[in-house]
Amino acid sequence: MNAIYLHIPFCKSKCIYCDFNSYANKEGMVDKYFDALMQEIQNESFVEPIKTIYIGGGTPSYVDEKYIVSILSILPKAEEVTIEMNPGTVTKEKLMAYRKAGINRVSMGLQASQNAILKAIGRIHTKEEFEEAFYLCRECGFQNINVDLMHGLPNQTLKDFKESVNYLVKLNPEHISCYSLILHDVVFQNLPSDEEERNMYYYAKDALKQNGWNHYEISNFAKPGKESKHNLVYWNQEEYRGFGAGASSYIDGKRFTNVASLEEYIHKIQKKEIAYIIEEEQDLESKIKEYMILKLRLISGVNIEEAKQKFHIDILKKFQTQLEKLQKQGLIQIDSHIYLTDKGLDLANIVWEEFV
Ligand code: SF4
Repeated sequence: MNAIYLHIPFCKSKCIYCDFNSYANKEGMVDKYFDALMQEIQNESFVEPIKTIYIGGGTPSYVDEKYIVSILSILPKAEEVTIEMNPGTVTKEKLMAYRKAGINRVSMGLQASQNAILKAIGRIHTKEEFEEAFYLCRECGFQNINVDLMHGLPNQTLKDFKESVNYLVKLNPEHISCYSLILHDVVFQNLPSDEEERNMYYYAKDALKQNGWNHYEISNFAKPGKESKHNLVYWNQEEYRGFGAGASSYIDGKRFTNVASLEEYIHKIQKKEIAYIIEEEQDLESKIKEYMILKLRLISGVNIEEAKQKFHIDILKKFQTQLEKLQKQGLIQIDSHIYLTDKGLDLANIVWEEFV
């Protein structure tokens, strides 16, 4: 396996739009949860070197740093070790402890630089608190920071979004993820139209490119050499192991996911029962199709020669019908790689459907 994901499901409060496996008011379970997490990790043997560790959630920075430090102490070393944090949950002591434990990348959610919008979506921080946390990270020596932005938020105008992007350009984080609000069961009023939302995305693409960020994945931008190594493991269809409640793994063509409930996860690990369910066992056909979908997320697309080495097939022949159709629609371009055009970036779902 190439990467490890650790899921820390605790949050100070639950954001209105959040669909992650995260919980507020479960502080009483933190101790037991980390015992179970340690146990789950200790049951695994790590034979190959690990490229990346990603501590996500939830809000990993919400719990006492001693938990994060002890978990990292039983894991192999990795080149890139990221922790997700929320402004308002970080202190200098915490950040210094993270650095000492080997964490060299942080990921923070700004989402928008207007406090009224942040409040409307239930974020606990203000722009000022975000900025304070950002500079604290710099002061503590973090030279690799990701910031999340969102477009398509309630009451968000193009002007607001431009302001948020320009604000980030000035702060100059190494990596910016720019996602659209995904609505599940929550109904928001005053959402921007599809057209306004597209214009926000176009603005981010242009402004970030002009200011030195590479657009390397549909929603991700990085300064040269600062692409997320961890996310590239996912997009390159490499193996990873997830630990913790609801965490997913991909090993040997199998996708399996731990039970999501904290109580059930702790119980199963304590009883030494299997805590995951196998969701998919891929045959070669499904592996190739998934590879196409994942690789097409990247701006560099599918390297035809690399696919040949990996699967011993000619994907141009295998997907000839689909590729010709998509090319005619102006959604993809083909040279030594197959990749999305600007139109394809907008309509990526239509492209992916061809490989389902
Ligand atoms: S902080 Fe993140 S994980 Fe927690 S509730 Fe908000 S969006 Fe969800």
